[in-house]
Amino acid sequence: MNTLDCNISNIKIDPAYRLAAKRSVDHTTIVRVGHIKIGASALTIMAGPCAVESKKQLLETAKSVERFGGQILRGGAFKPRTSPYSFRGLEEEGLKYLKLAGLEAGMPIVTEVMDTRQVGLVGAYADMLQIGSRNMSNFPLLMEAGLSQKPILLKRGMNATIEEFVMAAEYILSRGNDQVVLCERGIRTFETAYRNTLDLNAVPMLKSMTHLPVIVDPSHGTGHRWMVAPMAKAAIAAGADGLLTEVHYRPEEALCDGAQSLSPEEFQKLMEELKVLAPSVGRKVGKDEGILKN
Ligand code: PEP
Ligand code: MN
Repeated sequence: MNTLDCNISNIKIDPAYRLAAKRSVDHTTIVRVGHIKIGASALTIMAGPCAVESKKQLLETAKSVERFGGQILRGGAFKPRTSPYSFRGLEEEGLKYLKLAGLEAGMPIVTEVMDTRQVGLVGAYADMLQIGSRNMSNFPLLMEAGLSQKPILLKRGMNATIEEFVMAAEYILSRGNDQVVLCERGIRTFETAYRNTLDLNAVPMLKSMTHLPVIVDPSHGTGHRWMVAPMAKAAIAAGADGLLTEVHYRPEEALCDGAQSLSPEEFQKLMEELKVLAPSVGRKVGKDEGILKN
């Protein structure tokens, strides 16, 4: 069977990803993270710093994210860094700041888990577990995350095909957890003008193949702050259910990924622009949208 022959008018279920596959045109899964619903008509905006660096940095950034309409606070406490000598996160101290910032700002939190041994610890603090690009094919981690029954934000491997990405999600689903959000974050190509090539083809393709919500990370997808807003808007126009964006209260001082982090003012501007764009593609955006009533 041609597994990519799965546009919604011609659905064929590939047994290799039978649980992730879309079974009918209107088959969609809503993922619940705290009081937020992902995958309904409201867009979900997850924002915050690349890494949790200090209590002040996180609380200040969280305040701006909440004020300008972000719904889920992001921030890494365990950071996968290319060099072992780079800042690799505050670990449990960072998780504590995330919990505090989330409570203060009234936002659920999403943070990365890099290892099966961290799932219990990170799960004790986080509302949603992030599995990063470098770990998309870490099958034991995918299965452990599935068993945790926490909502999972699964990022596409930077060298993964769409099918491999969907089958990584299948690992989580096969452990009885269907609360999975897929995140396109750019792939490695020959192009070096930007950090990654943001593959927005992935959005309609994944949404036609699977019933899972699909969001886009224009920060890692571009590596350039000035490219984040245009690609965020393109992602929403392509049908994404939301965004994962890096925001830092002082990007020039960031210990990690400052070059691709929006300042609070830039985040505010993007949110204003999304309010204009969203209705034209049948979506709503804003702090009060996509909320569970009870
Ligand atoms: C991140 O979102 O913090 C991150 C490390 O992203 P990725 O796994 O996509 O590189
Ligand atoms: Mn980052």
